[in-house]
Amino acid sequence: MERVCPRCGALSGSKKFFGDFCEDCYLGMITLEFPTRVEVPLCKMCGKMRISKWEELGETALETIVKKNAKGSYDSFHVSPLGGHQYEVTFLVSRGSNYFEVKKRFSLKMNKSICDDCSRATSGYYEAIIQVRGKHAQRWAEKIMRELKNRTFVSKYTELDEGIDMYVGSKKEASAALSILKRKPTISDTLYGVKDGRRVYRRTYCVRI
Ligand SMILES: [Zn+2]
Ligand SMILES: [Zn+2]
Repeated sequence: MERVCPRCGALSGSKKFFGDFCEDCYLGMITLEFPTRVEVPLCKMCGKMRISKWEELGETALETIVKKNAKGSYDSFHVSPLGGHQYEVTFLVSRGSNYFEVKKRFSLKMNKSICDDCSRATSGYYEAIIQVRGKHAQRWAEKIMRELKNRTFVSKYTELDEGIDMYVGSKKEASAALSILKRKPTISDTLYGVKDGRRVYRRTYCVRI
């Protein structure tokens, strides 16, 4: 028996049907909303964006953007870059035993900002100094800089007669970078202030190469 779509009047002989409705009307009833434009803060100094934290715009960051902005239920999705700041998300939606693809396009609007690390770096903030000393100081300082780059910021880099000093944003990350490079530094702390009633120390790591 031929069915008639109650929404648009299409006949089941000429179109695919899902339950009482034709395919187009059925798909139209899947409510999945996604904004056409998503705004994100962009650090003008290092290019990181604030998504769940300040981070590079990679696959994980894009997934976070989609999860945060999609309204409606879906089974899974994937994001394809369309060039420029345009993206297409393909959602896989199941209804009963049927699967549908719902495509949405959005553009990223970057709002110029400055991330926490960059703002601290420009104000000269540091928690630790890494001193590299010895014949191969230059080469090792470069290695350490590369290791620090993904972890924290370096607010000052000085070449001295006796070696190189790096002023590093995070004590913890300075120590982590050195241990990854299997360097055992000598550590000394200097008191530089009081914060919330506690003494705050700056730490110096001295590495002899
Ligand atoms: Zn219809
Ligand atoms: Zn930054």
